[in-house]
Amino acid sequence: MREVFVLGAGASKPGGAPLGPELVWQYHSCSMPVPIRQGKADLRQENEDYKNFREFLVLADKMWPGHGFVRQWDNREDTVFLPSFVSKPFYVDELLATLQRNGDDEGIELVRRLIFEHIVAAAFPPTDKTYGDFISKILLKREPQDTSIISFNFDPLLHEDFERGVSFDHAIEFDWDEVGGDQNWERGPTFPLLKLNGSFDWGICGACEYLHRFSCHMSSHWYDGQRCARCRHAVSPFIIIPHEDYSSRIKPLWDEATRRLQQADTVTIIGYSFPDYDKTIQDLFRNSLSSGVQIRVVDVCPFDADRQASTHSLVRKYKGMFPQVHRQADICLDGFEGYLKNIV
Ligand SMILES: [Zn+2]
Repeated sequence: MREVFVLGAGASKPGGAPLGPELVWQYHSCSMPVPIRQGKADLRQENEDYKNFREFLVLADKMWPGHGFVRQWDNREDTVFLPSFVSKPFYVDELLATLQRNGDDEGIELVRRLIFEHIVAAAFPPTDKTYGDFISKILLKREPQDTSIISFNFDPLLHEDFERGVSFDHAIEFDWDEVGGDQNWERGPTFPLLKLNGSFDWGICGACEYLHRFSCHMSSHWYDGQRCARCRHAVSPFIIIPHEDYSSRIKPLWDEATRRLQQADTVTIIGYSFPDYDKTIQDLFRNSLSSGVQIRVVDVCPFDADRQASTHSLVRKYKGMFPQVHRQADICLDGFEGYLKNIV
């Protein structure tokens, strides 16, 4: 039986990865309490650590005048910075769309850098128990040739784990590989892990497009001053953000994902909701899933009383999205951790 596991942000949540609007706006909430010296908050270290965040607030002030984000940040003293912003779910997404329309590459680069910094600060070191259980309870019980993983997450929480005896084939060619060349490990079975939006530990050179793969044990300012192994130009995390054109570099990954989805007997979707803004992903599934495939959905249900209603609405949603699929979707509302706990 050929099986594809699809990992969305909800799968990385138990590992501490921030979601949606928290990604950029709640960045500072990871910080340590500010030291007080002579009765005054000493913000020097925090201002240094969050200098990219302040840059982002400058950008946000230009886009939504009247909020005074920078003023609020500069006057925060020792209080937790909570910007007075409209709690619209995809605020950052909207910002990115506007930056894209204006051709503001530097602004996009800044947001990309912040997303990296925040997830690294919140979800590292990458030793996540949930993904550990996913490896031991699911992957290692299956044949690598029949099992593949599609991930929309940038974080490397699911990574080569030589202690657990598993490795991954990312189906992309790295020009410079800090991890793959290390022969000192017993690798164990190798499963395809297709990261369709890129990954933090993949670094792309802004000048020659040399693609690097670094160790996933990174600090949040890891890319500051990072240089290309070939031409010494700056390297940034290779992550594709919504509305961006998928570059030719990532296309082979999408082709491989199409092939895997077409052949799948079962597709298990964990913590991913097919948001409307990501039409490309909806299309990928709509055009690839066969009529006989069994879809399993692993999601959370915040209130127990709503379980039945949530199940019905998810079944309806999947029927509407993928009308060619004959079988009714299987719904598990216990979240990723609950789903793994039920597997003996
Ligand atoms: Zn280069």
